[in-house]
Amino acid sequence: MKRNAQKWVLTLVILLISTTLLSAKTPKYIFYCIGDGMSFAHVMATQLYYEHGNNPNGKESLAILDFPVRSAIRTYANNSLITCSAAAGTALATGHRTNIDFVGIDPEGKPLTSIAKQLRDKGYAIGIVTSGQIDDATPAAFYASQMRKDAYLIGRDGADSQFDYLAGSALKQPYGKDQKQPSLYDYYRQKGYTICRGIDGFDAQADKVLLLDADTTLRSWLPYVIERDPEAMGLEFMVKTGIDKLSREKGKKGFFMMIEGASIDHASHPCDIATAVKEGAEFDRCVKLTYEFYRQHPDETLIIVTADHETGGLTLGETSMKPFHWEYVNYQKMSKESLSNLFQRLRKTGEIDTWEKARKILAENTGLWDKIPVNAGEEAKLMQCYYETIVKKNSEQEITLYSRNEPLVAEAIALLARKIGVGWTTFSHTGSFVPLYAIGCQAQQFGTLNDNTEIPNTIRKIMKIK
Ligand SMILES: [Zn+2]
Repeated sequence: MKRNAQKWVLTLVILLISTTLLSAKTPKYIFYCIGDGMSFAHVMATQLYYEHGNNPNGKESLAILDFPVRSAIRTYANNSLITCSAAAGTALATGHRTNIDFVGIDPEGKPLTSIAKQLRDKGYAIGIVTSGQIDDATPAAFYASQMRKDAYLIGRDGADSQFDYLAGSALKQPYGKDQKQPSLYDYYRQKGYTICRGIDGFDAQADKVLLLDADTTLRSWLPYVIERDPEAMGLEFMVKTGIDKLSREKGKKGFFMMIEGASIDHASHPCDIATAVKEGAEFDRCVKLTYEFYRQHPDETLIIVTADHETGGLTLGETSMKPFHWEYVNYQKMSKESLSNLFQRLRKTGEIDTWEKARKILAENTGLWDKIPVNAGEEAKLMQCYYETIVKKNSEQEITLYSRNEPLVAEAIALLARKIGVGWTTFSHTGSFVPLYAIGCQAQQFGTLNDNTEIPNTIRKIMKIK
């Protein structure tokens, strides 16, 4: 009996020690995935699109549905109940609440330190990846301390960060206002970066990399998935290349990679569901790449997936209470923004001088009439819009944050949204909760969070950063 009791005590001690060691373990690899503008409704819309709209094998599901840790976080800014990407990015990167359009600075203008910089100083390789501009608010919050409008200065902070891998569509403002200032391209080179362009231009041997789109004239985000050349660089290439590069870095303790799906937000501002859902699917494919990495290194990897705010007030279901038609998403051939640009060009050249011509272009690019039934009342409304805005030129463009939309195109895309079965409430952000999912080493620490500022503070806690 005595020997048995001793055995039990020994087992208990071993168990206690191993539990303590396990709970104190720090991840070697951290992925911080941010869907810009991605609410619970965006997540569900993408899942429904997989299940009912784009279902070649019936098995596609979002990676995050496998993640055991889930929470909902608040996003508000210091001076507004509805945040922006700068204030929310700052909260997610530094753990401090700040004002609208402040990037990596507190409400008094004092610079804040991001979790990425702290991990860099602790010996981790750092990657910042986005489908938007590398110097836009969300990625910038991880390396810059500037006002959002000062894109040239943000770009300089990027080069000064000495992060190992920076990948985005473009630099927003590569030239300073003062002619004597070096271009950002020169500045990055001076700071030891190799500037790579597109898939063919990627240099796997380069030390520090700034990866941009192959189109050197591009100043905005990557072309939307819905209209992108399938051979061109997308977010998946940037993530895959980044994982390969960061895992090969010599003399580092591990790596930290921020991945932003920027265009979920960009497509949601003009309430363009088909474009948004395809951006959501691309973001999910990137999360799947991190999940594959996790499966190879399950004890050493932490993946956090969240959003900075909600965009568009997206709702699944609208007033007619008809069933969803996610397959209609596949019939839209270009974004609302590009279709608007096409109509604006054709309007100027006089090529849409009859309703039939306008209807044909709408049908080819949205699937309305050809594949999606349009009743007489719906067509009459579109036709009236055509006469008012294109024939009589009583035209007020629909203005959203990133685009000026042709009213007829706006009407057609709104009709398509109703037919798919979704509703939108705004061209801006909303104050809704956003999701947080996590898996891997120390993931359970993120299951009880309420607030976006708590994410970097929790990373600090598990990485033992003061
Ligand atoms: Zn936005």
